[in-house]
Amino acid sequence: MFKKILIANRGEIACRVAKTARRLGVRTVAVYSDADADAAHVRACDEAVHIGGNAAKDSYLQWQRILDAAQATGAQAVHPGYGFLSENEDFARACAAAGLVFIGPPPEAIAAMGSKAAAKALMEQAGVPLVPGYHGQDNDPALLAREADRIGYPVLIKASAGGGGRGMRRVDQAEDFAAALASCQREAKASFGNDHVLVERYVTRPRHIEIQLFADTQGNCVYLFERDCSVQRRHQKVLEEAPAPGMSAARRAEMGQAAVAAAQAVGYVGAGTVEFIAEELDDGDLRFYFMEMNTRLQVEHPVTEAITGHDLVEWQLRVADGQPLPARQDDLRLHGHAIEARICAENPDAGFLPATGRLAVLRWPAHVAFQRNAAQDAGPSAAVRVDAGVREGDAISPFYDSMIAKLIVWGEDRAQALARLDAALQATHIVGPATNVAFLRRVVNSTAFSTADLDTALIERERAQVLNQPGLALPLAAAGVAAQALAAETAAEGADPWSRRNGWRLHGGARRRFDLLVGKTAHGATLERLHDGALRLGVAGEFWSFSAQPLGGSRYDVLLGGQRHTLTVYRQGERATVFADGGSLELLDIDPIAHAGDHAGEGGRLTAPMPGKVIALHAKPGDAVKAGQALAVMEAMKMEHTLAAPRDGVVAELLYAVGDQVAEGAELLKLAED
Ligand code: ADP
Ligand code: MG
Repeated sequence: MFKKILIANRGEIACRVAKTARRLGVRTVAVYSDADADAAHVRACDEAVHIGGNAAKDSYLQWQRILDAAQATGAQAVHPGYGFLSENEDFARACAAAGLVFIGPPPEAIAAMGSKAAAKALMEQAGVPLVPGYHGQDNDPALLAREADRIGYPVLIKASAGGGGRGMRRVDQAEDFAAALASCQREAKASFGNDHVLVERYVTRPRHIEIQLFADTQGNCVYLFERDCSVQRRHQKVLEEAPAPGMSAARRAEMGQAAVAAAQAVGYVGAGTVEFIAEELDDGDLRFYFMEMNTRLQVEHPVTEAITGHDLVEWQLRVADGQPLPARQDDLRLHGHAIEARICAENPDAGFLPATGRLAVLRWPAHVAFQRNAAQDAGPSAAVRVDAGVREGDAISPFYDSMIAKLIVWGEDRAQALARLDAALQATHIVGPATNVAFLRRVVNSTAFSTADLDTALIERERAQVLNQPGLALPLAAAGVAAQALAAETAAEGADPWSRRNGWRLHGGARRRFDLLVGKTAHGATLERLHDGALRLGVAGEFWSFSAQPLGGSRYDVLLGGQRHTLTVYRQGERATVFADGGSLELLDIDPIAHAGDHAGEGGRLTAPMPGKVIALHAKPGDAVKAGQALAVMEAMKMEHTLAAPRDGVVAELLYAVGDQVAEGAELLKLAED
């Protein structure tokens, strides 16, 4: 086995690789950008080397510096993680040239699967079923339009070099084809430096089912069953589970063998995933077509680890070291059910706009990491795993993607896994940037997901249930603020008013007022002591009997109107975030004196919601614009964000040009009154 490896990545995957390496007695070297000097992955490794500035192209994509770091520290191999350099054949070659083992497939295999079009051509020869379509070299627009007619609408135009859900256009009718093609090619050129596209039938109500496979240098190749990743937003995965609900043993073997055939056709070595799109036929049978092969470890590999009891990073290290696969096909068993939820800093209600900021609170459910075969041996409360690349107090920066962590649960069956995931999400408390935690919980509990009525449009179909839902009810949130205020006063006075029924004064009186702000709406709340000594909470004109007991660690046992609740309240200055069984609510508990003279010169400006690059401007000086009209498009955190006019007005001046980098809060253009 290697003595030392370099991990050419960051975040949760770098931490995850370090964990397995440590268990195997392999030393680890981290690399880091300026922003990551104190990051979790740096702490997780034995050594660390600074490789440059914050933008990925200045650090995690600087492969010469990474190779230099490996050589300077005496590492023998490089683990690329996913994203960044993991599917870069030139990097894989450069590793070999520098005498380092690239922990991944041979460069030729990466190259063969690097183009979706070329991969489809190869798979066709290997007899793997394909989505009907056109994947030839010739990209003449008239030819592509004829092919689309032949395939039949709706069709999907895909950038051959695309990834991460980008560079795809669904086209529903022939009239729209030419414009969609041009826009898809523009995006492909800009994002991937290559505008070649393929066209395929758009499968309606498809499922995304992928096969995990592994090959070694001795000619062995096995599949580790499937994952269902149908729950997606913007063609990107949100929830992943294994096994796929409704999968028959025969179909599993058939898909597994097709994936193995795909790998063998390109001389594959290491961990890989063959993605299929599956369509349910009228007779309930599942038909599947090859979509693409990802020549790396996937984000969602933990669900496969949970149901097989094998550590896939360990397998990667062994295979890269020239050892045979740790198991043969017949040794592999599928046990129980696992689901992963990707926890991201983003606002689902604002089109999944990524969010940045400091993680003031980051509390995970009590968890026990899966170890070798631990999934099978673990007791009922042990089947929760958290793969995180951040700690409380760290910042989610705009330079990388928005994933904070992955929550993985295992159960004897899907129902148990679902219940554990719901409980685990409920116990996940994050304060700081907006997150998708509450949204994930609603998706998990939706009828469609809980009954496994899966397809890639699930979130879209269920949007009325899963988006724009209210958080915790205001009276309960106010009760949390009041409970904490009582506890704080008690601590300050050194007395114990919780057990006293009489004579205790709130701030020297029998009544205390709270000015609460939820979003932009102000609400008054009052906490009063009545003549009989009981407490009463009033919120927005309604009154409840109230009592509270501190449970320690920001938790309170609260009785509100006779109903018992456990509330957790986190406080940073005026910001209070209250978590309960049913959800959470963030509010400001305003100190009126501190705010005299606020609110000067605000509003009506078009500002950058985060640092990023301007990639389009849809208005010019002199244009009259309406509130809500799209004025600019920015790119940050690997996503595009359309910025809309905050009010009606006339564009007076553009302050930035396309291609400019802008800071958070920067005004992008001057908007004058009509
Ligand atoms: P990426 O490289 O971005 O992962 P994929 O080819 O894997 O691109 O496609 C991503 C997602 O787009 C799939 O998981 C699926 O939801 C959707 N998709 C891809 N091909 C089709 C198709 N032919 N019909 C319908 N949806 C598709
Ligand atoms: Mg894909």
